[in-house]
Amino acid sequence: MVQAKTWVLKQHFEGFPKHTDFELKLEQLSEPRDGEVLLEAVFLSVDPYMRPFSRVRMQAGDVMIGTQVAKVIQSNSPSFPVGCHVVGRCGWRTHTVSNGSDITKILDDWPQDVSLSHALGAIGMPGLTALYGLEEVCAIKSGETLLVNAAAGAVGSVAGQIAKLKGCKVVGSAGSDDKVAYLKELGFDQAFNYKTVPSLEEALKNASPEGYDCYFENVGGPFSSVAIPQMKTFGRIAVCGGISLYNDTTPQTGPYPHLQMIFKQLKMEGFLVGRWEHKNVESLKRMLTWVQEGKLKCKEHVTVGFENMPAAFMGMLRGENIGKAIVKV
Ligand code: NDP
Repeated sequence: MVQAKTWVLKQHFEGFPKHTDFELKLEQLSEPRDGEVLLEAVFLSVDPYMRPFSRVRMQAGDVMIGTQVAKVIQSNSPSFPVGCHVVGRCGWRTHTVSNGSDITKILDDWPQDVSLSHALGAIGMPGLTALYGLEEVCAIKSGETLLVNAAAGAVGSVAGQIAKLKGCKVVGSAGSDDKVAYLKELGFDQAFNYKTVPSLEEALKNASPEGYDCYFENVGGPFSSVAIPQMKTFGRIAVCGGISLYNDTTPQTGPYPHLQMIFKQLKMEGFLVGRWEHKNVESLKRMLTWVQEGKLKCKEHVTVGFENMPAAFMGMLRGENIGKAIVKV
């Protein structure tokens, strides 16, 4: 019998998460039955969505939600033989018994020299989010100018690089000078540290005096209030995330964007990556090809040890990561 380690949400977060909100628990797993497999986590993802979704999708005492790359170590399912790797919505657990409904096999032709951890990043959910936000929501075209914030993170760094591949001008904002240097390394045309610029408005104007056609929104709140007036007429805003709001105990209020949206005839659309799930296999293959061709760089911020899951999660929310925040068991 296998014993799984799990991280449980002890109590709902109030404001910024604290170590005491989490509890490490042991769970005895039963033997996998017909059609079931036993999984062992190899890499786990910590993502911003866990913060807002914990409130709406979890109760105190539940295992933290999340995705992992896991190895099949025991199998009673011909679809998932022993030794194969899957991406699973298993939550924060070292071992899981799955009936196959919440796991997907890693792409068949995954190359040996590409770490499987990227299946949680650029060649996974965050990469798909970047791709769909640009192609499906913004319908971005060559020659246009894109603004992306949280630009050195998992989604933002991929969004900026894809826009460059499509022949766009890309402006990125991020929260440290190291992150800004990384964005320049990735080929962003302009990048600035939103924490140290004297005026966000001036920084946005200097980076693109003619304004922005598309805005890939990861942050929300006051950043967005300053950015929206910099849009060009008929600009498109893909509302992917609002991380500056996730830890609020009292909701923030305006300035409200309505007049800007009317006068400039802007389109602003929220989206969830799952809307285009039917395109995932084809899209992941595209992303993998870009990675192999060296056109898409995917840095990771790796924390070692399952026991460090809460620290990795809180570190990511604080902005400690450049690229995708990953935990290696
Ligand atoms: P990141 O890798 O970008 O990590 C989060 C980053 O957010 C931090 O590194 C930090 O960077 C930045 N940040 C944290 N707090 C603030 C703040 N108060 N103001 C501005 N920036 C802040 O995470 P992801 O790439 O995984 O996610 C980016 C966004 O995309 C999130 O909002 C997330 O919820 C959203 N998302 C949406 C999906 C969808 O389907 N709609 C799917 C996946 C993600 P910095 O140092 O630059 O501040």
